[in-house]
Amino acid sequence: MMPASMTEGTLAQRLLDGDRRALARAITLVENDRPEGWALVREVYPHTGRAEVVGFTGPPGVGKSTLIGALTKARRGAGRSVGVLSIDPSSPFTQGALLGDRIRLTEHFLDRGVFIRSMANRGALGGLSEAALQAALLLDAAGRQDVFIETVGVGQAEIDIIDHADTIVLVLMPGSGDSIQALKAGVMEIPDVIVINKADHPLTDTMIREIRGVLSLANLERSPEEVKASWRVPIIRTEANRGAGIEELVDALEAHRRYILADGQLAERRRRNLRLEVLAIATHRLRRRLEDDLERDAGFQELLEQVVERRLDPASAATTLLERAAPLP
Ligand code: GDP
Repeated sequence: MMPASMTEGTLAQRLLDGDRRALARAITLVENDRPEGWALVREVYPHTGRAEVVGFTGPPGVGKSTLIGALTKARRGAGRSVGVLSIDPSSPFTQGALLGDRIRLTEHFLDRGVFIRSMANRGALGGLSEAALQAALLLDAAGRQDVFIETVGVGQAEIDIIDHADTIVLVLMPGSGDSIQALKAGVMEIPDVIVINKADHPLTDTMIREIRGVLSLANLERSPEEVKASWRVPIIRTEANRGAGIEELVDALEAHRRYILADGQLAERRRRNLRLEVLAIATHRLRRRLEDDLERDAGFQELLEQVVERRLDPASAATTLLERAAPLP
């Protein structure tokens, strides 16, 4: 057997050369939380940061996959290479769905310029979002110019992969009122672009009015200067299944790109996201370490007993836990 460093080097090189099989293998490694996966990301990381990453979120069934399929077609038409990550256990890109009648992205499966991958939760160390972030880095390193990430939105528990996109698109359809409520209540951050898909529905105009209302409410919290300088969230109508409105969406994505590139906003946004990512990984590892300690160490069991018996309060036990925790490797 070759030493691990050599096989990794080969895999990293093939990945950087854009080899699809190397990319698929690499994503599997990070998805399964294999140390080789982390090592690979470490190696190729200096080559990342070039992809334009767009995240799509929204309730199931609004047409995110269909929209990404249409967008992929448009970007391929413009000669760009595309990577799609679908982060959803009930993803249409899983094999079961491929066998079924859901053909939204299947037309792209034979196109070597398109790499599609779904990720479901397999209990990776850092959780699904963490694995997805690593996968996005791998797509980037492999030279995918556009990376589209799809997640099912609103109030996810983990750190949200979507926050790490350069541009966040919220996809809704007429009638998906819950999302408007979530926007209103501040549960969901204001996205960069809003798409109303299935826009042939009679309630589309009503919905757009409602959304404009929510957006102008959000503006009330800003100074007039801020509002003037800030990005105006476009609301794009699409009918993804017949490709209507896709050009407008492409234009909106490009406009947002120009906006964040001006004044170093993109760099700032990425800096903020990377800070969050470092914190998230550290937090996950620390938690895992503490849980392992609790599991293994009789002393900690004793500590917990004291809390259960109300002889020691939880905060004091936590202090002791931290003091006695094994140092991180
Ligand atoms: P996702 O769960 O958000 O990814 O939604 P899908 O892309 O799977 O789409 C859900 C269903 O809506 C599918 O049956 C699509 O064919 C259909 N669909 C997607 N876009 C449109 C549209 O613009 N109009 C209509 N009428 N149906 C659409």
